[in-house]
Amino acid sequence: MNSQLSERAERLRQAINYHSYLYNVLDAPEISDAEYDALFNELRRLEEEFPALRTPDSPTQRVGGAVLEGFTKVAHPEPMLSLGNAFSGDELRAWRDRLVRLLPDIDTETLAYVVEPKIDGLTVVLHYEDGLFTLGATRGDGTTGEDITPNLRTLRDLPLRVPVSNTAAVVIDGATTLLTEPPTRLVVRGEAYMARADFERFQAEQAASSGKTYANPRNTAAGALRNLDTAVAASRPLRVLVYNVVVLEGSDWVPQTQWQALAYLRALGFPVSQENRRFEDFEALVAFVEGWQPRRSQLPFEVDGLVIKLDEFALQRRLGFAGKDPRWAIAFKYPGEEALTRLLEIRVNVGRTGTINPYAVLEPVQVGGVTVQHATLHNYDYVRDNDIRVGDTVAIKRAGDVIPQVLRPIVELRTGSELVWQMPDRCPVCGDPVVQPEGEVAYYCTNSSCPAQLVRGVEHFVSRGAMDIEGFGIKQAELFVEKNYITDLADIYSLPWDEIAALDGYGEKRVANLRSAVEQSKDRPLARLLTALGIRGVGGVVAESLADHFGSLDALMASAPEDLESIPGIGPKLAAGVANWFSHEANRRVVEKLRAAGVRSEIERQEAAAGSQPLAGQTWVITGVLPTLSREAASALIKAAGGKVTGSVSAKTTFLLAGDNAGSKLDKAGKLGVSVVDEEELRRMIG
Ligand SMILES: [Zn+2]
Repeated sequence: MNSQLSERAERLRQAINYHSYLYNVLDAPEISDAEYDALFNELRRLEEEFPALRTPDSPTQRVGGAVLEGFTKVAHPEPMLSLGNAFSGDELRAWRDRLVRLLPDIDTETLAYVVEPKIDGLTVVLHYEDGLFTLGATRGDGTTGEDITPNLRTLRDLPLRVPVSNTAAVVIDGATTLLTEPPTRLVVRGEAYMARADFERFQAEQAASSGKTYANPRNTAAGALRNLDTAVAASRPLRVLVYNVVVLEGSDWVPQTQWQALAYLRALGFPVSQENRRFEDFEALVAFVEGWQPRRSQLPFEVDGLVIKLDEFALQRRLGFAGKDPRWAIAFKYPGEEALTRLLEIRVNVGRTGTINPYAVLEPVQVGGVTVQHATLHNYDYVRDNDIRVGDTVAIKRAGDVIPQVLRPIVELRTGSELVWQMPDRCPVCGDPVVQPEGEVAYYCTNSSCPAQLVRGVEHFVSRGAMDIEGFGIKQAELFVEKNYITDLADIYSLPWDEIAALDGYGEKRVANLRSAVEQSKDRPLARLLTALGIRGVGGVVAESLADHFGSLDALMASAPEDLESIPGIGPKLAAGVANWFSHEANRRVVEKLRAAGVRSEIERQEAAAGSQPLAGQTWVITGVLPTLSREAASALIKAAGGKVTGSVSAKTTFLLAGDNAGSKLDKAGKLGVSVVDEEELRRMIG
């Protein structure tokens, strides 16, 4: 093979890895998706023709597809340790006082500390030889993990070669060190995880396609990384954050503190948390840690707590370990999120799509200042896979606004009298048979007039994340459905208030409040209404995307599945599910009734009346490489001029904006008689 080709392949790998880093780690892309695709496709073609050009750091290896026979064991270069816990500022101070006593010759005032979020993911150990990612392992038992390298390669933000950029540099105290050569050996530790928003989108897509839902981001990430089919990991939006240098040999520059190590990792091109902080004043640290809790729910990922480390490595080494815990680090946990209690009984309720959902009746227990008596068990598979039995002592978790959930049984506490639970074969509400459709995890009551489904639908409609009607909850939903006041969701806006005022416990004042809350909810944003309708897979994130893209219920209802699919984060199954929901006559009727009741069905436009915009009412599709504009820029221009941009050419397309290498969309436009324009023409049209 000629050296020109291998040089070209090397250039392409470097360029793609660098631009992938800009996009996935820094969130600051410099080239368009189309340009990126062009680079990627060229490399893939080269590798297909000359397989010898395929290297371990080739970005084409990120797509997965290989099915592994098993995972081999990997010994960790250093055992992974547990951390001691602190639950209050005073416990942190006690920890610091111990350090100070063990370092009598050190001036306490000079000690510095680093605070890092403790991400609720899977710890991974990543090995690099001469800069090349060669091995990635799970935590395992702390001494030995499993080799999951092919799965880890699919993580878009995990660098396959470091340094990612040839201008990488660490700046410490104003001194800049260029990192031109990779270290000969580098082992780092990090946490692989799924971001909350990614998890929600992933859940939506799964719910729409198979009805399968996942308990939480952590389990979903774990299931992907420990799957023998690498395509599973590639198909799930996993990420990594790196926080520890375990081994470093043959490096231009060696960090002396944890803070420097984080800077070094970032400079090499690893994703490093933006939440990390360094403190020299311990009281400022305590205040930060104590005040940090509200921040938790705003982070893009789930967090167990914070980790506090003594900054200087030389002092860390001097302090060593107490048993298995390093003395120089401690985990700060926010109190009361987990508790142990007895699981007395497993019952089921009927969800709004007819799903039969198991939940636990618990011996009442305090968690985070609230008495918890019920906790979700998600689905039958969850109960079976975690071997949760009636009578078990179980760990439960309640975090933020999330419904409490049963995490796991404490198997050591079993007496032998615990009972394995079975899914009932009849719906507890209407008595119809319960079925599990082929390929789905969920069990369903298939009786479409089962009152439980409507009650749940109403409960969801009025809930905080949806139309947010204060004073309206499951009790009202049950009562009004039972009284036949509500036969579909839109009936919420035509309740017989006089009759309700005559009911037990509903005085005039209470009815007036409820009535005004119902009235106010008519003005909720469109995304809330879309969430409230209870379309399978459409939660807050997806609803926002839909509202943003279409702007009104009318436009959404008139859209084809292809239009839906052009929205980032919406896959074919979810698109089909949404289109299917709106195609049902009964659903369209409910939407009509809601609109007639005066519920807002479009987003508020800040722009002037659409008619005055040059591209108002037009639908555009973009294809090929444009001379100066990226696709995003072109799309933004069209939208700003009042037009709509979709992903595929159909009879509804007004114009196809085509650049070089336009391909199949251009052919289709030709067949359908859609007008084709170039960038210059677009610029002329929008003036
Ligand atoms: Zn039923």
